[in-house]
Amino acid sequence: MRPLVGVLALQGDVVEHVAALERAGAAALLVKTPCDLERIGGLIVPGGESTTVMKLLERFELAEPIVARVRAGMPFWGTCMGMIVAAHDVAGLEQPTLDLIDIGVRRNAFGRQNESAEVDLMIPVLGSEPFRAIFIRAPWIERAGPEVDVLAERAGHGVMVRQSNVLGTSFHPELGNDLRVHEYFLEMIGRPHLHVGKASAAA
Ligand code: GLN
Repeated sequence: MRPLVGVLALQGDVVEHVAALERAGAAALLVKTPCDLERIGGLIVPGGESTTVMKLLERFELAEPIVARVRAGMPFWGTCMGMIVAAHDVAGLEQPTLDLIDIGVRRNAFGRQNESAEVDLMIPVLGSEPFRAIFIRAPWIERAGPEVDVLAERAGHGVMVRQSNVLGTSFHPELGNDLRVHEYFLEMIGRPHLHVGKASAAA
C-alpha cells in the first residue's frame, strides 16, 4: 500500500511537497487539524516563516498532538522552516519550538548575499551523485547533540540532520527535480524498525 504522508498545510510551500511526494509514489494529505494527523504515516513540515507557523500550530491545537505522535515514532521531516520549528533551540528566538530533534539552529544564517543559492551537496546516504540543493533564507545547524547524525554540510555547517525518526534539511528538495530526499523519507516511513536511532539500533 502507498504510504499516506501528511504535509502541514498552515503556511509555506505545501503544494510543491505534495507534488514531489506523488512523483515519488506516495499519497499526500494536507494536514490542518488533529484529526488529519491520525491518518498519516509520516509528516512533512514545509518551508515558510517559522515564527508565524509556531503561533499557528498553537492556535490550531496541532503542536501537542504532533509532538506526541513523533515521540511515539512517527517519522517527521522539516524542510527549512520545518527544521527550525523542530529544533531544540533557535538562536535569538524566545518562542518555544516543538523540540523534536537535539539541534541548535540559526535562522537566515548564510547571509544576505547568499539568501538564495543552489549548491551541489554531497549527501553520502543518498549515493555518490551530488544533490542540487536550493537554499532560501536558510538556517544552518550550530549544534548537534550526540544522538544526531549530520548527513550533509555546507560551508562547514550541518544542513541535513537526522535523529532516529526525525529528519531536517536546511534546503528545499521539493523545489527541484531530484526526488532522493523524498524517497529517503519514504523509506523511513516504510521501514521504521531500521530507523530507531544509533543508541537503540542494536536492540
Ligand atoms: N527564514 C525562514 C524562517 O526563519 C525560513 C525560510 C524558509 O523556510 N525558506 O522561518
